Amino acid sequence: LDPTGSCAGCGVQLQSQDKEKLGYIPGSAKEREPAICQRCFRIKNYNEAASVAVDNDEFLRLLGSIAATDSLVIHIVDLFDFEGSLISGLQRFVGANPVLLVVNKVDLLPKAVNLNRLRNWVQQQAKAQGLKTVDVVLCSAKRNLGFERVVEALEYYREGRDVYVVGATNVGKSTLINRLIRDYSDLDNELTTSRYPGTTLDAVRIPIDDGKFIIDTPGIVYPSRFTEIVPKTVLKALLPEQTLKPLVFQLNPRQTLFFGALARFDFVEGERQSFTIYLSEGLKVHRTKLERADELYVEHRGGLLVPPDESELHELPAWTRHSVRIPRGKNYDLFISGLGWIKANSMTGAQVELHLPKGVKVLLRESLI
Ligand code: GDP
Repeated sequence: LDPTGSCAGCGVQLQSQDKEKLGYIPGSAKEREPAICQRCFRIKNYNEAASVAVDNDEFLRLLGSIAATDSLVIHIVDLFDFEGSLISGLQRFVGANPVLLVVNKVDLLPKAVNLNRLRNWVQQQAKAQGLKTVDVVLCSAKRNLGFERVVEALEYYREGRDVYVVGATNVGKSTLINRLIRDYSDLDNELTTSRYPGTTLDAVRIPIDDGKFIIDTPGIVYPSRFTEIVPKTVLKALLPEQTLKPLVFQLNPRQTLFFGALARFDFVEGERQSFTIYLSEGLKVHRTKLERADELYVEHRGGLLVPPDESELHELPAWTRHSVRIPRGKNYDLFISGLGWIKANSMTGAQVELHLPKGVKVLLRESLI
């Protein structure tokens, strides 16, 4: 029994199958008049945005319609998965509209990190990806760090226009929008869920004081992020909640680290050196000899090596192997989208291998920290 028709709020096609996908309406609410999706319902009744996800094609269609508006675009990215959550090609779709880059989850980095340096790093990376930004703001939506700067920048660059908020899933978009709703919105007045005539934007419009809107777009799903390919139960273990506690490993060549049974890192060749691991505390790191690694994995995945546990193992794609030459002379991170990164400390170079589920994005970058 699938409800037909579209949401009177955002215009999306209604469905009762998948809570996390666009247009979800509980079976019991199908008779609601007017029929609105769960996402619009929550904003309207609880002043609360919730995450929904769409695939790339749908997202691009949505983005394409932003170019025709006169607005400010807030692109929110996750500092923990920076390269994985940056929307490459955003520039093409937003047209002449200014983009404010909001980098969320700064609370995860150790306090000693120099924020100016970090900001420069972010600016450089964004530029390298072809993204022109009017400004970069670092914040933590959850811990309420730097949020005044977000509001200030938003007001400054908005110049009385609507604000589109775009981002990948799990970057903290809902958390941020919920803060904005509390600070900004005019929801005591009736939620005017008016749609752009003739278009379906699938975007929830949250009215703000001056008659303009903050427009919440669905989160884009990138299958190259670890967080998208693991079962829901494992996702919790991957998303760090607290400030990262870097783990330092002194490794001899031909030693291996397992990250649960999710990924494996082999130090194949190079001088004895230290590697610093930045990942969620929910993941157990296990060290072994390279010679033992294959056998250990076969015997202990889902047991000693968790997550995922035995029943979830089959839900992950098989591993593929990436050989990486870490050059000498600089500090590099081996970045694994959605999982974290491994910093090579010695600057003497190394030959390493990563075993990751097929499709997960991995890259070598200049060290973040
Ligand atoms: P959305 O999918 O982009 O809407 O993201 P959510 O707002 O649902 O947040 C995704 C996950 O990131 C949740 O587990 C949040 O608790 C967490 N999160 C959001 N903002 C922050 C933040 O500033 N710091 C940290 N450490 N976690 C955050």
